[in-house]
Amino acid sequence: MADFIFRQLINGEWVDAADCGTWDLLNPATEESLGLMPYGGGADAYAAIAAAAAAFPAWRDRSAYERAAILLKAAEWIAARQDELAVLTTEEAGKPLREARLEWLAAINNLTWMAEECKRNYGRLIPARLPGRRIMVIHQPLGVVGVITAWNFPVYNNVRAWAAALAAGCTVVGKPSEYTPRSSMALAQALVESGLPAGVLNVVNGDAAAIGEAMLKDPRCRKISFTGSTRVGKLLMDGASETVTRLGLELGGNAPVIIFPDVKDLKDVAEKAVFYKYRNCGQVCISPQRFYVHSRVAEEFLDRVSTLTEKVRLGNGMDDATETGPLINAIQRDRLEGLVADAAARGAAVLAGGSRPADLPKGYFYRPTVVTGITDTMRLSSEEIFGPVMPVYPFSDPDEALALANASEYGLAAYIHTGDMATAFHMYEHLEYGMIGVNDWYPSTPEAPFGGVKQSGMGREVGPEGFYDYTEVKTVYLGGL
Ligand code: NAD
Repeated sequence: MADFIFRQLINGEWVDAADCGTWDLLNPATEESLGLMPYGGGADAYAAIAAAAAAFPAWRDRSAYERAAILLKAAEWIAARQDELAVLTTEEAGKPLREARLEWLAAINNLTWMAEECKRNYGRLIPARLPGRRIMVIHQPLGVVGVITAWNFPVYNNVRAWAAALAAGCTVVGKPSEYTPRSSMALAQALVESGLPAGVLNVVNGDAAAIGEAMLKDPRCRKISFTGSTRVGKLLMDGASETVTRLGLELGGNAPVIIFPDVKDLKDVAEKAVFYKYRNCGQVCISPQRFYVHSRVAEEFLDRVSTLTEKVRLGNGMDDATETGPLINAIQRDRLEGLVADAAARGAAVLAGGSRPADLPKGYFYRPTVVTGITDTMRLSSEEIFGPVMPVYPFSDPDEALALANASEYGLAAYIHTGDMATAFHMYEHLEYGMIGVNDWYPSTPEAPFGGVKQSGMGREVGPEGFYDYTEVKTVYLGGL
């Protein structure tokens, strides 16, 4: 394996935690230690913010072309080591190697796209209503940005924010999840070894509340980009009300999937439903979650997905045959088990899975599961599942399906499957979600905005909107001309 450095990065130095704290990082497929990671806190975060603030003026003043060149070099660094990088991600996150490779490919794509986008940071000239006057709008980098992220995509969640912020001319303090710090440290190494100056990117790992508080309290930190649960997003909103720190919030989801009887190929829809539902063991914020299936095809759909679900190969992500890995930790596995047990106790039918696998006694595994007969009183009907459980709800009235789909506090992604254009238009125009897949299961790409409405968050990552979310708008009036 290449020489990866698994330490915090502060002001260009790879360092341990200020108080020498450590965290025993476990492989979720084996429960074995991957080594001790530095586990810091407030002191590390303040040092990182100070370094980022000091590095900001020079980084801001570099041309977009110079900043882009470093991001492009980092993309090449990753491309040359994609296989080794995928291994370290699989070991800490549990996902199959094939998915880890794709995540590093997403890093390459995000770095490359933002490297180009920053060259198009155009302002505008507004025709003035008074003579002798000109009005300009320009977009300038925000300054220091804190980036706090979840473990489910330990590379992608970071790179989408880091690439946009760095491309815009901001400096960054990254705080990955304590469950997956190595992927972000390797991503930081890619940028450092590609010429990123000291202090422009810093990575701290440790006490989340203390690090979050430092980012909220230090006035030099101008924005926090947060990817994680709605619960923690709300805590950050509370804190930000004291300092008016700008927030970008990418929070939880509870994506409905509405399947109409006029789909071109129900077999294909069922196969893809199974594939995308169990991708990353269901730990995906845009994971298809609540399956509303028209009653004319519900029985066939349930038969197909139940049979396919029983065949999904569960195992260690390092094994080429594995299709779905473990959950990230015992807390998530136990929470998921509780959701299914609650539904079963209240009368839901478990058609596939529904237990831990007997042949995998080690690791946080849970068998892919299909459940139907779900009622409002079951936690499964309203909580974010974030695991390999597929609840199926038959419906007969499309407007009722639409109302049920919208009856959620979340509003991240939604999916419609239909062969009818008018149905597709009606549905995507009325679904209260930030991203809609119409006969499409993967609404995510570097060039299009990603984000949710309602309690799924605010602001956007990636796409032009994601770039501009790391800039401040400045309006300039030129008089006496
Ligand atoms: P989480 O909210 O528990 O943790 C996310 C990050 O916040 C971690 O780095 C954690 O250490 C940190 N954190 C925890 N408490 C904090 C505090 N008090 N102050 C500051 N930071 C704190 O979420 P998780 O369990 O890691 O991730 C799962 C959640 O993330 C799901 O709800 C999922 O939908 C969501 N998610 C959303 C997106 C999106 O783009 N919308 C993407 C991925 C994951």
